[in-house]
Amino acid sequence: MCTNHSHHEHSHLHLPSSMVTRRSALRIGGIGIGAALLAACSKSNESAPTTSLTEATTTTTSAVVSTSAVVSTSAVISTLAGFEYFADSVKVVNNGNLWLVESNGLPAHNMMVGITSWQQQVPTSQPYTGTNAWQIPTNPVFADTPVSAKTQLYRGAIALAVNGVPIFNALNNRGDDAYLVGELDEWGGHAGRADDYHYHIAPLHLQEIVGNQSPIAYALDGYAIYGETEPDGSAVATLDEFNGHEMADGSYHYHGTRTYPYINGGLRGVVSVVEDQIDPQPSTRPFRPALEPLAGATISSFETPITGSYKLGYTVKAMTGEVAYMVTDSSVAFTFTNIDGTVTTATYARTI
Ligand SMILES: [Zn+2]
Ligand SMILES: [Zn+2]
Repeated sequence: MCTNHSHHEHSHLHLPSSMVTRRSALRIGGIGIGAALLAACSKSNESAPTTSLTEATTTTTSAVVSTSAVVSTSAVISTLAGFEYFADSVKVVNNGNLWLVESNGLPAHNMMVGITSWQQQVPTSQPYTGTNAWQIPTNPVFADTPVSAKTQLYRGAIALAVNGVPIFNALNNRGDDAYLVGELDEWGGHAGRADDYHYHIAPLHLQEIVGNQSPIAYALDGYAIYGETEPDGSAVATLDEFNGHEMADGSYHYHGTRTYPYINGGLRGVVSVVEDQIDPQPSTRPFRPALEPLAGATISSFETPITGSYKLGYTVKAMTGEVAYMVTDSSVAFTFTNIDGTVTTATYARTI
């Protein structure tokens, strides 16, 4: 099996230089979204740490005045179509040039079941908050030279689903179709090397929740990704090589499809690319070294008995194994029941 899934997603873990860029670029946004969350005083999700809010409000005191004006006039609720259906777990604010989207990266639907090529990674919440929020351009602009995802962008996300789950290139770093080689669960996702959950194909199942008229995702260039029909419910018109097309009114959007490229096959709009990934974009939060493929394993069950507590069941030939783990903001504790019956435990500290 050996579908060396050591692709893309890991790389954005260590980009100190782009980190600096990201932080400076997001400074105002961080304040905006932090202040907005405070103002809204709505239920914070589990990965909206107070530290990010604190950081956001203390780093640039001078900017708070102008940002608070923006926040007070906006309804704080998302006006970026599609995200409103997941408002309980995904926060969206607009700072002018950008939509800033906060999530913990975990979907409401189940995960992992159906994977037949498993790297032994598991889903954990991620800190896509504050200065590490997702950025989606408010006004997408056509690029002179669009970036294809067929030959590049093998690292990091290229789109963000409206449920706050990132979407990576459909191809892994060896150019393999992640879906066809069994790396994805029934929802089109899996856990990457930072134990971060993400999709590699369009989450078409979200269409049932958001309806035809709303996008299921946005490419990181700002153009919407719709499902298998046009927003008005009609059949999808001819798509270009990026799975997109221009409408009569001059607007452009992508569609999700059941065959390659599944999602946006590139970025028709302007993005910047640094070290083969779209930049800036949030960083994941690894807490242990990445693992290796477990040959012959099929993930058969995944349960969340209580919030933050998970049980993943798998089989190798006729033998069964389980990974039970508990995630808090500061640690992840594992109990591994191996296929030979042995039980081992491990606990890792998590830091922001
Ligand atoms: Zn992946
Ligand atoms: Zn269309």
